[in-house]
Amino acid sequence: MAIGKNIIIAGFSGTGKSQVAREVAERLNWKFIDTDDEVVKCAGKSIDAIFREEGEAGFRELERRVVKEASLQSQSVIALGGGAILDRQNYDSLARNGIIVCLEAKVETIYRRLFQRDVHDTGNEVRPLLDGDNPMERIGLLKASRQFAYANSADWTIHTDSLSINEVADEIIRSRSLINRRGSPGEDGNNSCWVETLSRSYPVFVGGGLLDELGVSMREIGLSGTSVVISDENIFSFYGNRVKAVLEDAGFKVVSFVVSPGEMSKSLEQARSIYDFLIGQHIERSDTIVAMGGGVVGDLAGFVAATFLRGISLVQVPTSLLAMVDASIGGKVGVNHPRGKNLIGSFYQPNMVLADYQTLSTLPPREMTSGWAEVIKYGLIADKTLFEFLQANAVAMKLNSAVLARVIGRSAAIKADIVSEDEKEKGKRILLNYGHTIAHGLEAATQYEQFLHGEAVSIGMVGAASISQKMGFLSSDVARSQKRLLEQFGLPVKFSAIDVNDVLDAMNRDKKARRKSVQWVLLRDIGSPIVCDEVTEQTVRYVLQELRES
Ligand code: ADP
Ligand code: ZN
Repeated sequence: MAIGKNIIIAGFSGTGKSQVAREVAERLNWKFIDTDDEVVKCAGKSIDAIFREEGEAGFRELERRVVKEASLQSQSVIALGGGAILDRQNYDSLARNGIIVCLEAKVETIYRRLFQRDVHDTGNEVRPLLDGDNPMERIGLLKASRQFAYANSADWTIHTDSLSINEVADEIIRSRSLINRRGSPGEDGNNSCWVETLSRSYPVFVGGGLLDELGVSMREIGLSGTSVVISDENIFSFYGNRVKAVLEDAGFKVVSFVVSPGEMSKSLEQARSIYDFLIGQHIERSDTIVAMGGGVVGDLAGFVAATFLRGISLVQVPTSLLAMVDASIGGKVGVNHPRGKNLIGSFYQPNMVLADYQTLSTLPPREMTSGWAEVIKYGLIADKTLFEFLQANAVAMKLNSAVLARVIGRSAAIKADIVSEDEKEKGKRILLNYGHTIAHGLEAATQYEQFLHGEAVSIGMVGAASISQKMGFLSSDVARSQKRLLEQFGLPVKFSAIDVNDVLDAMNRDKKARRKSVQWVLLRDIGSPIVCDEVTEQTVRYVLQELRES
């Protein structure tokens, strides 16, 4: 498993390697390493002096040592000297623990950047091989001799001629997730993905038995010190000792705080008692909260991590299907207020999410079924292939762990992509609300007691599809196949014994609180959502009546 893989920036001098690497490191909050700088530090003299006194061979020898050292790091952005990647040994050690991005530029561009630039624009002056007459020709020759090696070693090449440093950095951040994902899901059992938000970039690991790698994984992304495991009684009774042992084996000191299961624990009072505990344990900013549990534990422990000492490290270890595919990814943390759910909270991204689907074996069946609603939602709003895969595997899903891993991995990746594009719910993230407008109404109208969240979402999606149909966006066939799939997974598609007016009232209260018109997420087809704010109350009432079992 490649955790906290490095990003290696290779290419000719003058392609902007160091500046770009520094920028990418800053954005990801990773370490920045420039191998030329390290060589200078190591030798105690300039690169020119090394070349003069020890020749190119002496330089390469030092460089090899520095590269080896750098390649053992994690979460580092490494700018390589222009010739470093040509060395087989360097390439092997770097490629094993990182992705290699090669920056390209035309000879003219390189010439301009190296020899005609503004005197203030310093950088490392590492061009002993280009000294002499007719630099343009020398660049051309040297570059030609290296071109094959650059092209061959790169996972990704970026042509930088017309790009600013910032634009190249953008490109690298984008390409990284593509490279990481390329070819991996399914075939080698890797169903993991990355979340890349402005505030933090982090891996989401999905796999069987990953709980046993929790400690090592946390070390690999640079965490150390004390782990505070926050969990609920149910989950802790199953996995508490195991996780404690795993963390201790990896060198962490471990303390734990266990709350009662259920939504009632998501309160400011509970958060306060955790603060008291953390202070009593002398927890510092360098320590880590490990939130092991369902959505309740993740929200509560995440909220504490976000606020204690203005924020300490957070690792999400979701154990419910809902938390694995939804709540643990994207950084929404918070607690309830007596006047409403999730009224107090923040966006606070974890350092890592680790989902071991084997923990689902102890999840109560009704909770598992509820989680499927969110998985099906991802198919509906973003991925027709996932939807069809769910149709084809509805029966096998409960038995076959490889299938389970793929589906959870894919769902997590969809959520990761959406929150990466829209960390704070200003745009695309609204699509995640498909089925949720009615669901929230149903939940609130029944004081959050009758439905599990996914059950309400299931009914809400049937309603949203019906509205989509009435507005002329969706065919009845597609609406029917959505309903069928929900039923196949054992989810409710209707409600009973609730007054439609109560549901509408609850929805209107919600709308008032937001002070703007309701943005309905509707469907045009499987995988093709649209946002619409022109749904009339009359239509909603009609659809709710339709959903109500007579
Ligand atoms: P959700 O994850 O659906 O938001 P909760 O955090 O309340 O909701 O979890 C739902 C219930 O399932 C809780 O009672 C919790 O203790 C229990 N639970 C969660 N994960 C597991 C698990 N892996 N094994 C057993 N029980 C679990
Ligand atoms: Zn939801």
